[in-house]
Amino acid sequence: STVTPSNDNRENFKVVIRVRPPLSREIDPMYGFSSIVSVSPDHKQISIQEYLGAASNDMEREQDIQENPGLVTYHHFTFDCVYDPDSTQVQVYENTARAAVLSVLEGYNATLLAYGQTGTGKTYTMEGFKYNSTDPQRGIVPRASEEIFKFIESSQSANATFMVRASYLQIYNEFISDLLKPERGILQIREEKRRGVFVEGLSEWAVRSPADICSLMQKGEATRATASTKMNDVSSRSHAVFIIIVEHMVVGEGDFPEGQEITVGKLNLVDLAGSERVRVTGATGKRLEESKKINQSLSALGNVIAALTDTKPRTHIPYRDSKLTRLLEDSLGGNCKTTMMAMISPSEEAFGESLSSLKFANRAK
Ligand code: ADP
Ligand code: MG
Repeated sequence: STVTPSNDNRENFKVVIRVRPPLSREIDPMYGFSSIVSVSPDHKQISIQEYLGAASNDMEREQDIQENPGLVTYHHFTFDCVYDPDSTQVQVYENTARAAVLSVLEGYNATLLAYGQTGTGKTYTMEGFKYNSTDPQRGIVPRASEEIFKFIESSQSANATFMVRASYLQIYNEFISDLLKPERGILQIREEKRRGVFVEGLSEWAVRSPADICSLMQKGEATRATASTKMNDVSSRSHAVFIIIVEHMVVGEGDFPEGQEITVGKLNLVDLAGSERVRVTGATGKRLEESKKINQSLSALGNVIAALTDTKPRTHIPYRDSKLTRLLEDSLGGNCKTTMMAMISPSEEAFGESLSSLKFANRAK
């Protein structure tokens, strides 16, 4: 099956929510767990309960709400799709990620963004347990790789060849580094007429199988983890961007019997920094600087998407306000499929962060 990306921004922008299941530590052995989030049967609407009372655990809260219904208000939102805690990795891939992958195979750029508070399932959704090709819990990156190579296998012919390359970078405190060649240090974004916007010195790796892609991910992850132990969980405070480029060459066909036709599609898979708002009063020094940079860069992303999806066409799109939006300039808007996946926790303790994520996602519609 094929998709023909249209120029309609609304068609090309999708915003979905995924509510993760409660973690075992959130489930009280005595009282169980009661979610403050509910999803409509058609998976388009989500409501989140705001509790105004004083009860401190799930059971007391439930009881309090039953006795005093006035202590609760509901916030409702509508999205392209809302995945409830029972949703599977296959569903998220098939219904949400696949269209972007197929459009890349046709030579367009596409971007999938995982947004949300730390611990809500961004990495689970993007990567899952990626090191085993039969694991049902593997996420978007391994499934996208499988789809890409399956497509190539079925489309390869004497005069059509494909080349797939991957890069993996991190943006921390507005500094870009190569997760696959960390020794290259801080990298800069450059722009050239012919090449467009690119990261100078970013390594690109030729890959021939989903396993090749997984081992690059693993390698990059190892780099991230080493940096984390030194600098205290950098991974939740940096954006990780995995890039897969598919080049398709067709030789001597159609109108150009002598020539060569090349289409290039780029898939950006972005695991964003945790969106939690660090109370600026509490943080100092390095931690404060970090939080400011994250907030700025996430709001720059929100502003770019809001400008692109505005019903009134905008002449100025503020790509230059952050490294991430600058990097994605050729992969957001126009005929690029862009999907924002906002993850939230189902639990009461995360209410403030969940509401703020839903509002962020709502603005991107
Ligand atoms: P983040 O990357 O947003 O910080 P993670 O992806 O690391 O969050 O998820 C936090 C924890 O929750 C992990 O243990 C992960 O396995 C689990 N988890 C997240 N989403 C799901 C889900 N949909 N189903 C099952 N477990 C999940
Ligand atoms: Mg993560």
